[in-house]
Order: sequence, then structure tokens, then C-alpha cells
Amino acid sequence: MEKAQAEERMQCVRCLMPFEKRFIGADGECVICREHRKKWLNRDYQKTEQQLIDILNHYKRRNKNKRYDAVVAFSGGKDSVYALYLLKHRYGMRPLAVTGDNGLLTERALKNMKTVVDQLGVDHVIARRDKEELQSLYRAYFQKTKNFCEVCYLTITSALGQAALEHDVPLMVTGFAFKVDSSHFRAARRYCFEDAFAAVVKDSIPEDVYKKYITKDVRASNKFHLVHLFDYINHVESEIYDLLETQLGWDSAGREDKHSDCRFHHMLGYLRRINNDLTSLALMTPAALLRDGQITVEQFRTMLAKEESLFANVEREQIDDFLQYFGVEEEFLTSSLPPVALADPVITEEDFAPLLEARHRNNKSKSELLEMLIAIIRPEVQRDGGDIAIVDYHDHILKVRLLGGCRGCMIGDQVMIRYLEYLVRKYVSDDIILEHAKEPAPL
Ligand SMILES: [Zn+2]
Repeated sequence: MEKAQAEERMQCVRCLMPFEKRFIGADGECVICREHRKKWLNRDYQKTEQQLIDILNHYKRRNKNKRYDAVVAFSGGKDSVYALYLLKHRYGMRPLAVTGDNGLLTERALKNMKTVVDQLGVDHVIARRDKEELQSLYRAYFQKTKNFCEVCYLTITSALGQAALEHDVPLMVTGFAFKVDSSHFRAARRYCFEDAFAAVVKDSIPEDVYKKYITKDVRASNKFHLVHLFDYINHVESEIYDLLETQLGWDSAGREDKHSDCRFHHMLGYLRRINNDLTSLALMTPAALLRDGQITVEQFRTMLAKEESLFANVEREQIDDFLQYFGVEEEFLTSSLPPVALADPVITEEDFAPLLEARHRNNKSKSELLEMLIAIIRPEVQRDGGDIAIVDYHDHILKVRLLGGCRGCMIGDQVMIRYLEYLVRKYVSDDIILEHAKEPAPL
């Protein structure tokens, strides 16, 4: 059995992770590495940083008479700390750090948060949630899907939205670094994340409870502008650690405990490992840093071995804590679950037939084909309370804008955009890169 499995897999020549053969291209690179090359390796950071500065200046002007000009998602983890530091010190913003209490913050994260905001002289709010209510949501979601990060995303999004409204600050900033965290590859689908969440928990959680975490109506009626800082400036892990440790007194715990802000982060790797989900493991830090050229193969091997042993040797106490928190037996962790029933798709494969025909007749430009594609998928995005528009198509880059309830959605930035990119490449042209061009809130 083990041998058969080994034969089906191939090692990517670049990130050295094992993949099913269908994910490896003719050049020996995996899909993730191929995507990374297209999107990140040739990014003109001088240009993108200028774009960032223009955006930030817009909100400095807009909010010059207010106390803050940006709200920043702040978990106490290294990336959000670095994002806050940059906003304050490199770009001269007046940010408000906002923590969505997800119920799983570690003591170290809380301590790090305090140290950093004191050091930076930045105001900080923690949007507290009822602990039992949160646990009931995690349980309901995990028991149907074996995933739990989604609940955390909802606490962050809703806390940011709340702070943005309260202080009249449309600019919301995150420290998500998609270059080295490609978890959207696991999640490619076009269904609204918040609708999917509601569909999963609605049988076990009262509506008035889970709806507190669903903010698409709020986002649809307020012009928030969500910016992921590391879409615009390079994210170099060792530089970030150096700065945080030396300037901010941030405790990295020897740089080994990657996601030190989440109490169950190790369990995430453990779950992937015991379910033999190697593709997911390939998305984690060592492969991501090797792929990005930030570490040598030797450093990669050392790091991978450390991470693997961390996931393999999760303490019994931690597993028990996890099982207790999520209300499941150990067998559940490796069981397979039926898919959750979501609303039927509005569009089907057949709806793309006119587009394919037009492409084969070869009498329409790529721009026209892209317009056709967006018109085909729009009804589905609208059903979910969102909308989509083409902003520009130039040099293989298609810029689209997500509107309505999709506006300001962190998951939309990862999942919806990636799914649209998949459709664009499938139905129009394989060389197109999709970007989410966001609309600034009015002055
Ligand atoms: Zn690879």
C-alpha cells in the first residue's frame, strides 16, 4: 500500500515537496511553485510600494481630522506586528491595532501584543467575544468540516469592520503574506465563504448567534478598503524576525514556533500529517521559504525535519485539550465526512459553451472574451450578495473589482479571486494573472 502511494507521487524540483503526479508540470515544478513564479518572483516592488504609498496618502488626507487613519488586524503574530510597525514607522500612519478575540489567543501572543503596542505608542482594542459562544461555533464548524481556521477569520473580519465603522476609518490593513501562505490552493471554489459558514452551522447554532459573525451586509453598505500590506512590499522572514526581536522586544520563542499566536496551531499540522495531506503540508513554511529563495536546501531540510517532528510529537496533553475543546473523539480526526450541502450553483458548465465557441471561432479579442466570462459568472456572485466588474486588462494582467458583500472580504481576496483566475485560464487564456483592484473609499 505504501509503495503504491509512493509511486503516485513526484517530488517538485523546486520546493522538494511530494505531490500527486497531476500537480507536477513538464518542467518538474509543482502547481504552487509555478504560480509563485508567475505572481511573485518578478514583482516590481518599487512600483507596488508606490501604489501602496498612494493608497495610504489618500486615507491620511481623508482622515486628517480623525484620531486614526487605518485599522490593522493585529494577532500578536510576527506578520501582523511587522505590518503595524511599518504603517507607523515607515509610512507615518496613525493606525489603530484591532484584535478579534478568537478564543484561541495564547498567553505569549497577548504578552507580545502589549509589549509591541507600548513600544510603538499605538492604541489597541481587543474585540471580546463570549467564550462559550465562540466554542460552540468552533465545535459546530469543526464537527462538520474538520476545519477551524474559518471561525478565526470571521472574528477578525467582524472585529475590523466594527472598529472601522466606530472610528470612521475605511482603510483596513492585514499582515497576511500570500506569497508564503498559499492556503487558498486548498480552498478554490466560488461559493461565498460566509454563506458556506452559515450552511454548516445553522442546524446547531441559533441564527442570532452565528449572524453576529457574518458581515457581508455591513461591508456591502460601507465602502471599506481592505489592503494586504505584503501584496505591495516584500516579505522576508529573517528580516522581519531581526527587526521584531531587536527593536520591539517581541518574543519569537527561538523562531521555531511558527504561528505562536494560535493555541491550536500545532494541531493544524498534526491533523494534516495524520490524514496524510502532503499537499497541505507543502504549503507550510519550509517549502514556502525554499520556493521563494529565502533559504538554502540545507536550511530547508533542517527546518522541515524540525517542523515534522513538531507535528509528529504533539504532546498528549495538547491533543486531549483539542479533543475536549472541539467535543470530538480521537477517531474523528482521521474519519472522512460527507460534504456539507450548499445552495445549488446558479451556473453550470453549459453556460460557458458560447464563450468556448467564440474562442474557437477566433474572432473576438481577449478583452471581449473576458467580458463574456464575467457576464456568465456574475449571476452567481450576485446571488451571494456580491458583484464583480472588470477594471482593466493589459499585459496579461486582468484587474477585477469585487463589490457588494464581496467588498472588504478577506476570504474573497483569497478564494474568489483565485477561483476567477482558474476560470479565466480555463476558458480564455492560460497566461492571464488576476489582480483584485480595489476601489478607494471617497474622500
Ligand atoms: Zn513546488
